[in-house]
Amino acid sequence: MVEKYTPKYPLVWQKENFFIKIFCSIPNIATGILLTADDKKFIIDPGDGILRDLNQEIDSKEILDITEMFISHGHHDHVGGVWSLLTYLSVMKKTSPLNIYYPKGCIEIESIYKAFMQVYGRELSYEITLNEIDNEKSFRKDRVTVTPFEVDHKEAAEEDKEAVAVPSLGYKFEFNGKSICYGGDTAYCENLVKMAADSDLAIIEAGAESDEPSELHMTMSQAIEIGKTAKEYFLVHVPE
Ligand SMILES: [Zn+2]
Repeated sequence: MVEKYTPKYPLVWQKENFFIKIFCSIPNIATGILLTADDKKFIIDPGDGILRDLNQEIDSKEILDITEMFISHGHHDHVGGVWSLLTYLSVMKKTSPLNIYYPKGCIEIESIYKAFMQVYGRELSYEITLNEIDNEKSFRKDRVTVTPFEVDHKEAAEEDKEAVAVPSLGYKFEFNGKSICYGGDTAYCENLVKMAADSDLAIIEAGAESDEPSELHMTMSQAIEIGKTAKEYFLVHVPE
């Protein structure tokens, strides 16, 4: 039996000019992460509250300069802030383009985008590009190397029905010889084991409700086992 642990948000990690701040990661409520590499800023899993948290953290000009958004999967606690963030960027007259990366088959992001364009598309001050990810190829964003990797997340189903797989990704970010591995939501899976190992920071979910291995989330002991293979780790998405 592993002792109950509740992360104290925000969780912050910094190595020189490589910086990550996890404003929040509470199952069924919200996630929200800001990654900074030099003056480049990435948003990861903008759940509800992301606008408030970003505005407390950086000034509006810096928010308007954000050009990359990474989505691990479409559950509401990971995408709940997308609509308000896109709207804010339009109201504030963002001009630089915005890239949204998300797993292939994530209908939540495609639906939010479609509805958003229907409402605001005609007078939108900036361009949005949807980047559906269906492979694990690394790509560069300025001086940051991003490697998406498939993880194994499912959705609880009604009794007697099988849990349904949800298109889900983790992302590894490398900059200046340091690496951060964010696993998103996942059950214990080999891909995460491989990507977390030797990372400078691993951000690992421990979302299972009990110590029983589950298809939806990891138990605390599974998450710790993976976390310990990295130089440092944060446990997130822990039920409160
Ligand atoms: Zn989820």
